Amino acid sequence: MKRLNPDNCSVVIFHNQGEELQETLELLHKVFSDVIVKSRQDEVLAELDAQQAKDKRSTLLLIDAESCRMPSPDDCPDLLLTVVRLLMQNAIRNVVPIVCSSLDSPSFMVKCLEQGAADFVLKPLSQDVIKTLFLNVTRYQVKRIKEDSSAVETNKGQIWSKFKDRLKGVFLKEDRLSKLVADFYTPKPSVRRSSMASMLSDRKEYLKSQICSWDFLPLELDDKDLIQVVYMILDQVLCTFDQLDSLRVPSGDLYHFIFDICNSYHSANPYHNFRHAVDVLQAIYYFLCQIGALEPMCPEMGGKKEKVEHPLLQLLEPLDIFALLMASIGHDVGHPGVNNLFMVNTSTPLAILYNDRSVLESFHAMSFFHLLQQHCFSSLTDIRANPDYAIFRKIVVNSILATDMSMHDEYVQNIQEQAQRIKRQGIDLSDKAACEKDKILLCGALIKCADISNCARPFPLAKAWAKILAEEFFEQGDLEKELGMAVLPIHQRGKICLEDFQITFKKFVALKLFEAVSQVTSQMQFTVDAIYDNINQWEIMKTERASPLNHIQPAPDGTPARPRPGI
Ligand code: 5GP
Ligand code: MN
Repeated sequence: MKRLNPDNCSVVIFHNQGEELQETLELLHKVFSDVIVKSRQDEVLAELDAQQAKDKRSTLLLIDAESCRMPSPDDCPDLLLTVVRLLMQNAIRNVVPIVCSSLDSPSFMVKCLEQGAADFVLKPLSQDVIKTLFLNVTRYQVKRIKEDSSAVETNKGQIWSKFKDRLKGVFLKEDRLSKLVADFYTPKPSVRRSSMASMLSDRKEYLKSQICSWDFLPLELDDKDLIQVVYMILDQVLCTFDQLDSLRVPSGDLYHFIFDICNSYHSANPYHNFRHAVDVLQAIYYFLCQIGALEPMCPEMGGKKEKVEHPLLQLLEPLDIFALLMASIGHDVGHPGVNNLFMVNTSTPLAILYNDRSVLESFHAMSFFHLLQQHCFSSLTDIRANPDYAIFRKIVVNSILATDMSMHDEYVQNIQEQAQRIKRQGIDLSDKAACEKDKILLCGALIKCADISNCARPFPLAKAWAKILAEEFFEQGDLEKELGMAVLPIHQRGKICLEDFQITFKKFVALKLFEAVSQVTSQMQFTVDAIYDNINQWEIMKTERASPLNHIQPAPDGTPARPRPGI
């Protein structure tokens, strides 16, 4: 390791407060030759990149906590969290984050260190403190090396040493998983974590009414709204059930978790982006309210009290409900915008890793669980800390895997059989294994409905989603064409009209599922009715398009009308 002294450290300061920085800067310049001040977080990240490109020097990053306004004053600075995440992913190296603040609170100081700060210093910085700041570089590197090497060596018994070499490969260290998921984590500078605190209560009320409506249209919401929607749903569930009180976390921690989920979706995908995830989460929330498993956050929505208790409801514990909601928001994380067949046909490393089976869904489930491990819900993912680990993981993983459409018919058949069996003989609560199987199937059925709930939304919404999905299919087709691969008709522009694309999917894929689920729980019947309505609407559009009048009717300006092009 290069011998350290202040000369081979640069200092980047994040500071955008009105208060005078001049004095501190003078002191810093006496010790360090390279001191840079940045007032915006994106500029800081760019500067850290630039510093690395220059040489292999270490960079001390001084984060002025007061420059990062957070949802609550004792929340960790969002810049710290972003930098620590980038360090863990090896996306940046040799950066040592230090928080400086005038908040003289031991719990805040400890929290910053726990979240990955190398040190915490009180403002104003004195000459003595500044002189020793560079020591953090050594301390931070030593800490990281120690963490790396201690991951597997926790148990040093005799049998362990016999197995050690064989188990080395399968005890994947967390940072290796981090590297796997790092590539799709793209911080979106447009939404600042601190900005959540400023959302007006009118806006929150509007979002609440949206959450409770089947007319929910996330296409009209921006990322900040979408994050707030997720927050409101998770927060409500955590606060409703006493059984979940150990999972209640400070609001800032919950926001950070949701921000990182948002950042783990590719916004360049027309369809499989954070909006779709929030849409699926809202659909699940709506279904759970309809079937009486949740009390809606808007009393006017009705729900729990008016509904007759369904036998399956007795199976859903609060943690199961929470797991299903979590699975919904995480079910497509890191989606690349191309489908499983593409992953297999191009023999991507992910397809090799998962043996061509549910490649994307396996990847989403793995990545999402990894995200959970890194946040305030990490206790849920720790087999030693959480007695309900097994069932929580089972619901999250199985529900995400259930969204693989290649298993659709198998699921539909299982749901139909479940409906008939329950009608015939009810549920035997003493048969724990059977109950768990039923519960997993119910969660799979609900998330499947939520995943393709677009086609059961009111027609204008269903149409908007259909166009977006078609665009994603076409973009995959464009790519396949460029790669010289075979392209399916639904991926070719202008080949199949939007009406046929939708009518076929609804009649032959979606209806079977929604009808089966409505057999299990009649409160879902409204989705079947909506799909029939939408099929009618698409049929009408198709007839209008095919009508000879459409071809010969002159346009108002007298020029002959042309047949409308395909999608
Ligand atoms: P996801 O990939 O979002 O987990 O699962 C949903 C899949 O269902 C989509 O990728 C898509 O293939 C299919 N899907 C959802 N809605 C529609 C639709 O309206 N039409 C068609 N053809 N497929 C749909
Ligand atoms: Mn999906």
